[in-house]
Amino acid sequence: MSNESAAPRGVSRRGLMLVLSSPSGAGKSTISRRLLAEDPDLAMSVSVTTRQPRPGEVDGKDYHFIDRARFDQLVAEDGLLEYAVVFENCYGTPRALVEQSLRAGRDVLFDIDWQGTQQVAEKARTDLVSIFILPPSAAELERRLHTRAQDSDEVIRKRMAKASDEISHYAEYEYVVVNHDIDESVAQVKAILTAERLRRTRRVGLSDFVKSIQAGL
Ligand code: 5GP
Repeated sequence: MSNESAAPRGVSRRGLMLVLSSPSGAGKSTISRRLLAEDPDLAMSVSVTTRQPRPGEVDGKDYHFIDRARFDQLVAEDGLLEYAVVFENCYGTPRALVEQSLRAGRDVLFDIDWQGTQQVAEKARTDLVSIFILPPSAAELERRLHTRAQDSDEVIRKRMAKASDEISHYAEYEYVVVNHDIDESVAQVKAILTAERLRRTRRVGLSDFVKSIQAGL
């Protein structure tokens, strides 16, 4: 559903920030990929990170891979909308693209952790739609981390320990999706997105549109 075809004449919409958070392995990346492929009005916010690329990750697509000096420079310039240290690496959201997109009525998808979500909520609560993705069980989370085979056993152990910490923040999110089945989870996130796009407060020009209806009555 595109903004153009969905909007009544003269009514446009400010973009929203759709934040998906979860422990690693809960299926957030798969859900994100599907949403981006199936929804032309949604663009991914590509974060900067100081961590090393994993096999198969592409600079500029998965992340902008930068060094610590560049990261510190971005923080000093106020170039990041939010940032956090996760697993001893720095991550942050470049500000400019997000602000441009929202003004242009395009929605932006974020894969950020609870620390970043809290910062976005403080700065731009009305633009934020936050969803926490839970795994169906601890055993399933561990199985998914092993199947992914991108990380060493040591890193997987760290991720499992960190998962408990991440999950403890679920109640700070507006929506929770339990990822039993990827198709069902994608459908649920799309339903949230559809409803949030129709929120009256996001719709610019609505009062003039209503007046134009009233004028003809
Ligand atoms: P990974 O290294 O597995 O790609 O990401 C580790 C964690 O960092 C994930 O929970 C992910 O959501 C989070 N993350 C990725 N980019 C950002 C960002 O720009 N800001 C914040 N706060 N967290 C991020």
